[in-house]
Amino acid sequence: MKCERCLTACRQDAIYFKNSIRLVDYKKCKACLACVQVCPRNAIEVTSVIKEQVLTVKIERDNCSMCLKCIDNNGEFCPNNLFSEETVEKDDEYYKQIKFNFSEVEKCQGCLRCELSCPENAIKPVTFKA
Ligand code: SF4
Ligand code: SF4
Repeated sequence: MKCERCLTACRQDAIYFKNSIRLVDYKKCKACLACVQVCPRNAIEVTSVIKEQVLTVKIERDNCSMCLKCIDNNGEFCPNNLFSEETVEKDDEYYKQIKFNFSEVEKCQGCLRCELSCPENAIKPVTFKA
């Protein structure tokens, strides 16, 4: 059961829950670390960030044409191959979509080649604003 102390402590309203997973809106986060201080289980890990560092990459799926240029491209699209295809299920139907490999976000070197190269303008890196 979530205690939501971090949610209450955040003055920037940057913390939210989705499917019981705690997420941070890095456009709002000011790195004050109030959430870290109130967590009774030390469950919040702090990663040092610098201005303009890529924190995650959003895919605007309504725009994506599934051209697959962002994957299997010998590193010519993303030098670290941080995009992949996944199968998702909704209403008993299965379909494929592109995902950003968030677990490997630390490999992102912030080149923003993905944003510039997507022919549908569907890739939106989220950078840290100090
Ligand atoms: S390059 Fe852009 S349009 Fe093509 S599959 Fe990737 S996200 Fe979708
Ligand atoms: S900014 Fe560069 S390294 Fe990061 S995901 Fe985009 S293409 Fe890959």
